[in-house]
Amino acid sequence: MPKDFLAGAKDHYDVVVIGSGLGGLTAANILAREGRSVLLLEQHYKLGGMATWFKRPGGNIFDISLHGFPHGMLKSCRRYWSQEIADSIIQLEGVRFDNPMFSLTTSFNRVDFTELLTTKFGIAQQKVDEFFTTARSMNFYDDQAMTTGELFEKYFPGREDVVRLLMEPITYANGSTLEDPAITYGIVFSNFMSKGVYTFSGGTDKLVKCMEKEMIANGVDIRINCNVEKITIANSKIKSVTANGREISTDCVVSNANLRATIFNLIGEEHFDAGFVSEAKEVRLNNSSTQVYMALNEDDHVDRSTGDLLFSSTAGRFKTDLLLSRDITSRTFSFYYPDTRPNKHDRTMIVSSTNANYADWTGMSKEDYDASKADLVETTLDALEKYLPNARQRVEHAEAATPVTFEHYTKHIEGASFGTKFEGLAVSRALPEQITGLYHAGSCGIIMSGWLGTINYGVIVANDVENMLHKQATSSV
Ligand SMILES: Cc1cc2nc3c(=O)[nH]c(=O)nc-3n(C[C@H](O)[C@H](O)[C@H](O)COP(=O)(O)OP(=O)(O)OC[C@H]3O[C@@H](n4cnc5c(N)ncnc54)[C@H](O)[C@@H]3O)c2cc1C
Repeated sequence: MPKDFLAGAKDHYDVVVIGSGLGGLTAANILAREGRSVLLLEQHYKLGGMATWFKRPGGNIFDISLHGFPHGMLKSCRRYWSQEIADSIIQLEGVRFDNPMFSLTTSFNRVDFTELLTTKFGIAQQKVDEFFTTARSMNFYDDQAMTTGELFEKYFPGREDVVRLLMEPITYANGSTLEDPAITYGIVFSNFMSKGVYTFSGGTDKLVKCMEKEMIANGVDIRINCNVEKITIANSKIKSVTANGREISTDCVVSNANLRATIFNLIGEEHFDAGFVSEAKEVRLNNSSTQVYMALNEDDHVDRSTGDLLFSSTAGRFKTDLLLSRDITSRTFSFYYPDTRPNKHDRTMIVSSTNANYADWTGMSKEDYDASKADLVETTLDALEKYLPNARQRVEHAEAATPVTFEHYTKHIEGASFGTKFEGLAVSRALPEQITGLYHAGSCGIIMSGWLGTINYGVIVANDVENMLHKQATSSV
């Protein structure tokens, strides 16, 4: 008999959270801490969603999305998770750029960027200050007519090199383009510029283990290997969810699954207003990624001056669509030195990440797909050679992931790395107006994606849910 992963689960919960990405985990933890009965259902055999890792023989552990996040994570983790988690957040010292326009190393904060822009790029101090002040003052309620491209043109007309410095890391961090609303750039860029780029000491495995410990202490009923097949609606209200064939009653669902999958696959468009459905259909998915995971031979080390995060490109010009091309010219290398996991083996890992289109990786025969992955590994080793001489001999293990891999493990439509484009946020926020008790807390809208964005979105949605449950309880007294 197959194992029953829902054995012992109750028939009713105040809240069911679908998906254990950082947004889902955070919402589940806060609601349980408030005293709500919470069931967390994850279809994969591991918690974390995109915030995940995998192991290979010889003590090699690879992180998928632990490359860098803003300082704001410290406050969010201290408040909504634990001091232990907050205490493991440390700064990445060396962020490097290497492309035909410029090569430089930066601590990636406002002071250092100001210095670079004025001295190396020759921009007037006043212009730089104005740009930072404008970006810093942007918020979600601002006019969304101006695009990021127009913002750059206003402050740095004709300066493709400056645009590259300012935009390349953000495009990599959330897939945004020059055509997206300027606020999506301004908010994320300013978050990083406040104090630099941070990482989690101990790796993603430690983070997720700490989060699991905290959720257990707060009473979340955590269930892995539980695929939610359906959310049932009755009279425009949440009635139940069905996972692994079992129906569980609830008044409230927080879906951390892909926004479009939640609306069209788990619920069905017949439960929403026609106007809402057409708006939801217009929501574009964000791009996906490819990655190459490389482990250095035991006892081999990379010089620390190589940097922690290296934005490398051979493209003469910076164009966001070039970053998605199968013909890869831009790669972001993350170097994980042995102190990434201080108590583990003395191993160095390198992960190369590139934004990618799902369409470029589907519809192939198995042979073609495998050959394309092998080619991705080979071309990445070639590119790494510049920063790690004799890379081929020094790397003992290398393998690749594609948009199809991300789709497989997280069920994100088309393997979208950062959920949906900006218009997804309004649709996500409008769900409770369509169906009482239905919420979504997961990557969407660029500013609500990435580790910090999704954790903060989990907090916002947990507060919405708490308010709704509180109102329901007081109105029925
Ligand atoms: C290659 C790559 C690199 C990245 N690098 C960075 C980085 O350096 N810094 C950063 O801040 N962010 C980075 N990100 C983005 C970041 O990882 C994500 O934005 C964030 O982790 C997403 O969290 P989420 O809450 O939206 O949930 P997700 O991680 O998308 O998880 C959704 C969860 O829902 C589950 N699920 C889906 N459908 C069902 C169902 N029907 N039933 C049950 N469970 C279901 C999935 O299995 C999954 O666990 C990167 C992402 C990728 C792919």
